[in-house]
Amino acid sequence: MAIQEIRIFCVPLAAKKLYNMSSSVVSTPFSTVVEVVDSSGLKGYGEACLASPQYQPAFNDGVRVSLEILAPAILGYDPIKLNVIHALMNEALDGHPEGKAALDIACWDLSGKILDRSVVDLLGGARQKNIITYHVVGIGTPEYAATEAERLQREGITRIQLKAGGRPIDQDIECIKAVCKVLQPGTDLAVDTNRGWTSAEAVKVSNACAGLSLSLEQPCSTEAELIQLKMQCNHPIIVDENTTDIRSVARMISSGTADGFGLKITRLGGVTNMRAIRDLCIATHTPMSSDDAWGGDIIAAAGVALGATLDPHFSRGAWIAHPYHQTHYDEVNGPRIENGFVTLPKGGPGLGLVFKDGQFGEPAAVYS
Ligand SMILES: [Mg+2]
Repeated sequence: MAIQEIRIFCVPLAAKKLYNMSSSVVSTPFSTVVEVVDSSGLKGYGEACLASPQYQPAFNDGVRVSLEILAPAILGYDPIKLNVIHALMNEALDGHPEGKAALDIACWDLSGKILDRSVVDLLGGARQKNIITYHVVGIGTPEYAATEAERLQREGITRIQLKAGGRPIDQDIECIKAVCKVLQPGTDLAVDTNRGWTSAEAVKVSNACAGLSLSLEQPCSTEAELIQLKMQCNHPIIVDENTTDIRSVARMISSGTADGFGLKITRLGGVTNMRAIRDLCIATHTPMSSDDAWGGDIIAAAGVALGATLDPHFSRGAWIAHPYHQTHYDEVNGPRIENGFVTLPKGGPGLGLVFKDGQFGEPAAVYS
């Protein structure tokens, strides 16, 4: 089998619910969907979608430009040989993991279709069929945050991520305390500032919230600040934005900086790289989640597939963006949340999704 053609599509995924982070407000990200066609006509789908230009050092138009170099580099090669595919992409272009991730996800989907197996099976098999998920409460007032937390718990959500940062920390502390007051026993709270506090601010928040059960997700911008914070902090630290590759994850495990990770498939360059990090986390008993920052059913299915293979003891679950944009590419099989869990798509081999010809519109680019 050989990759014969790659088509690139641009798909708007407008936020339908409040989604405020410390650095930005999510409005209408344009997702990059890639369709990789092999010599027998089978198609695999991949996707990369960044929530906002401020969230990370990459943006959606840049993903599509990176594919001008990456897509031609893998034409003619076997999509199942993913180490070869990654070597070709890395030789063609340094960095740009998001574009590489879109092609990587498509090759996993296509490999599953060629072999008539699910991506979950190719990743080693499911350890859990229903994958726990968490829900984001965007930055707002204490009343808004507490009302949202109550509503989510009524819907079965047991893991809440409260956004914070980008404003005076007293307001963040009030919000945290308001949410903690309405938490039911068994509900887990992570306060995610998306790099929004200094280490001194994070220490103040942690001290003000001493005795409250919560973790701090990416409270500061840099790994150095997190190391500093770890020595003075009352709460577990989950690292998200500073995880850029397996070396950064390994370093933060061995230094004891991270108590767990929120990992993004596209930031890490795709499912292939996430698989290696998953194995490292399992071997070191480090909790992790399998997420992305935004995206449609394709990213969601890839994240849930990897999330299903996590050791349930150390799984922080998988996150999908569907509740916030309410768009499905596959209305039947697209991953959705029921009672706080996501189930695997059941539409067939690969990622388990089914698309109609032409449903993504005219391609923005075609490589053959
Ligand atoms: Mg995060």
